[in-house]
Amino acid sequence: MKAFTYLRPGDGAEAVAMLREHGPDARIIAGGQSLLLALKDRSARPPVLVSLRGLPELSGVRADGDELVVGATTTYADLTRTRLPGWQATIAAVAGDLADRPVRTMGTIGGALCAADPRYDALTLVTGVGARLEVLSADGLRVLQPAEFFAPGGGTLLEPGEVLTAVRFPGVAAWDTVVFEKFRTRVFDAALASVLCAVRVDPAGTLTEVRLTVGAAVPVPVVALGTGSALVGSPAVDVDLDAVARAVVTEVLSDRDDSPAAQYARELVAALTRRALLRALPSPRS
Ligand SMILES: Cc1cc2nc3c(=O)[nH]c(=O)nc-3n(C[C@H](O)[C@H](O)[C@H](O)COP(=O)(O)OP(=O)(O)OC[C@H]3O[C@@H](n4cnc5c(N)ncnc54)[C@H](O)[C@@H]3O)c2cc1C
Repeated sequence: MKAFTYLRPGDGAEAVAMLREHGPDARIIAGGQSLLLALKDRSARPPVLVSLRGLPELSGVRADGDELVVGATTTYADLTRTRLPGWQATIAAVAGDLADRPVRTMGTIGGALCAADPRYDALTLVTGVGARLEVLSADGLRVLQPAEFFAPGGGTLLEPGEVLTAVRFPGVAAWDTVVFEKFRTRVFDAALASVLCAVRVDPAGTLTEVRLTVGAAVPVPVVALGTGSALVGSPAVDVDLDAVARAVVTEVLSDRDDSPAAQYARELVAALTRRALLRALPSPRS
């Protein structure tokens, strides 16, 4: 690991000022779980690290109107311990079922989103439920949709000197049920494929909104918008799970790639979609 200067700003604005002062030499560090690996193998050699650890304004969970605001430096361990109502409990469940305890203790939701590795669960989560991302720069605060934050081919569209300060999740009324399914080889491995299914169902059992999002098997999570909107208006109990799983695969993954890896990804996404729908939709069904 190359030597570096470690800076500790007092708040987000000071972090932005430090990033501006040091320009491309500076890099943010939050929990260090992704960045330290890059420093150790020297694929990243920043002379200056600006630490976001211990900044109260960037950490913790609070309500703001209808939205649930999760500070960017909130660790997965903290999220796991947070009791959230309705579908938002899935946020804590996702946080509690990734990596291992040391990674969850140090790793932050904001760090995962900024590392933007498609295998990380947070990317599928924020895209799937329609969260918004709060970004601070010298020009002030802006709030982005996931599609404005993640670059289409992978990575983020953050400008140099910008800091992700919070994730703004929709309110508890936004969804009736949110289910996250993933496949990993070993329990502490990152996902090979993931699917998030978010649904709203009216009192008569008719689907009023369906959002199916595929992650990990693609460079950036993709919402199967066509498949979801085709389901709106159907009785939830009548949904043909296999047909929807096939439709998601067709909409999101290319069928031109015949390599075993691509075929495997298609099978995984179909199986996870079916599983997510089965859990998300009201019973009875086969
Ligand atoms: C062994 C291991 C197993 C893992 N398994 C899983 C898994 O199963 N599922 C899963 O989802 N994830 C997994 N992860 C990934 C883990 O979730 C991330 O490494 C962690 O959340 C990143 O957060 P961090 O705070 O440590 O980020 P850091 O490593 O500190 O930073 C990551 C990157 O984001 C930038 N950055 C950090 N915070 C901000 C910010 N607020 N604004 C702007 N830029 C920022 C940094 O400059 C850096 O480029 C695993 C990681 C490890 C090491």
